[in-house]
Order: sequence, then structure tokens, then C-alpha cells
Amino acid sequence: MIMSTSIIKKNLLLEGKTKKIYATNNPFYVIVHYKDNITASNGLKNNFLQDKGIFNNEITTFIFNFLNSCGIRTHFVQKKNNREQLCHKVNMIPLEFVVRNIVAGSMSKRLGIKEGKYISNAIFEIFYKNDKLKDPLINDHHAVFLNIISYEELNIIYHIISNINKILKKFFLDKNIILVDFKMEFGKNDQNKILLSDEISPDTCRFWDKKTKKKLDKDPFRIGLKENILDIYMEILKRLNVIKN
Ligand code: UDP
Repeated sequence: MIMSTSIIKKNLLLEGKTKKIYATNNPFYVIVHYKDNITASNGLKNNFLQDKGIFNNEITTFIFNFLNSCGIRTHFVQKKNNREQLCHKVNMIPLEFVVRNIVAGSMSKRLGIKEGKYISNAIFEIFYKNDKLKDPLINDHHAVFLNIISYEELNIIYHIISNINKILKKFFLDKNIILVDFKMEFGKNDQNKILLSDEISPDTCRFWDKKTKKKLDKDPFRIGLKENILDIYMEILKRLNVIKN
């Protein structure tokens, strides 16, 4: 077990839209810092939202700790402070894996199917992370052709995301939350092992209240509603029992 206190934060390695990654004095670990930015439409909308980073750090910490305890291999080691996590250093695979249990968002638009239709065969989609191309939807063959990943690795990831979906669907349903869809990213560690990386939070998932179907994620921000997004994220933390009512 790594002693978090022996790890020292060093130089900034990279800065994305919502996170910063710092090197540490140990080449196998990085510090992930959650910023107070909220984005939508591939970064076209990018607002400052005071303290959002604290909420997403908290929620991702909870979910990654839970997934680690279920035997899913993730990059997450431990929360360092209210905005930072200690994580295994990985080489990110530039793909976003989306799992859909209910039709919403881009799938609803693309296929002209009303939001809310139940999908019995959870659908897996791949998006190629490329800002210039606006993260296009691709399939397995494109990903292999682009030399991003092999068919074997894709099979491993499909197995992992199917397990994660089963685990999280049940976990959230117990909290009266429907896991509509969510996005995952993966990286490879120094031994080439594939680890779930990035974050899982209301920024990267669609959560609906089981009874009222109220949106408990960043969809209100996506469509420009004035709703207080942090009240919604607080509601998720309450349902996870991280914050008491
Ligand atoms: N998603 C994400 N980052 C992205 C795009 C999508 O985390 O850059 C998540 C999103 O929160 C949702 C799921 O992936 O839970 C499916 O998103 P969709 O393809 O419907 O795109 P959207 O309409 O949300 O941009």
C-alpha cells in the first residue's frame, strides 16, 4: 500500500477542460486535480462554476473506491484533499466508451428515437477523442485501423464495461437513481494492464430519479437551464450517503 504522505506533487504534466494532471516524485503515480469548470458540446460551452471540482472529486472518489472494492481495476488510489486524488500513472487510450441503458442525448438525436426508451441490450459506443474532429462516433474496426487499440484489448474493455454497468446500475437503483448512460475512459499502466481511468460523476453520466425522472446530472447545464447544478450534485452526494441529510 502506497503511503500518500510520501508522495510529493511535482510539475504540471497536462491540463484538460476539467482536470489537471501533475507528476509526483514517484514515476508510477500522478496527482489528478479537479478544476471548477463545467463543459458541454465538446467544450463549446465552458463555464466556471465555483467548487464544482470539489463535488466531482468527492463523487468520483466514492464511485472508484466502490468499483475497486468490487474487483474492477482502476487508476484511483486515494483522495489526497478536497480537489485532488492520487492515481496510478497511465497512458490514456484516446477513446471514450459510452454505455447506454436508456435512449438519451446524442443517440436520441442521431436515430430519431424519443428520450426514455428502455434498451434491453445495453449498447456500447466508441467515440474517438479528437477535438479537431469533435470526438466522432466510430466502431471497433475504425479504432483498430487508427492503431489506437487491438481487437483483444477491445474485448477486454467490453468485458470490463459490461461488468461496471451491471454493478453501477444496481448500485444506483438502490439509491432510487436510474443509470441512463455513462462514459468511461481507460489507460494502460507500466505493465500494459488496462485500468479504468478519468472520472465517473454527474459530468459523465446521465442519472434520472427513479420516480420523478428528474435529471440529476449536468443535462440542465447542457440545455442552458438556470437550475443550480451544484444543488443537483449535492443531491447525488446525499443519495450516496457521503453527505448526510
Ligand atoms: N459524455 C461525456 N463526455 C463527453 C460526451 C459524453 O462524459 O465528451 C457522457 C454524457 O454525460 C452521457 C454519455 O456520455 O452520460 C452519452 O453522451 P451523448 O453521446 O449522449 O452525448 P451528449 O449529448 O451528452 O453530448
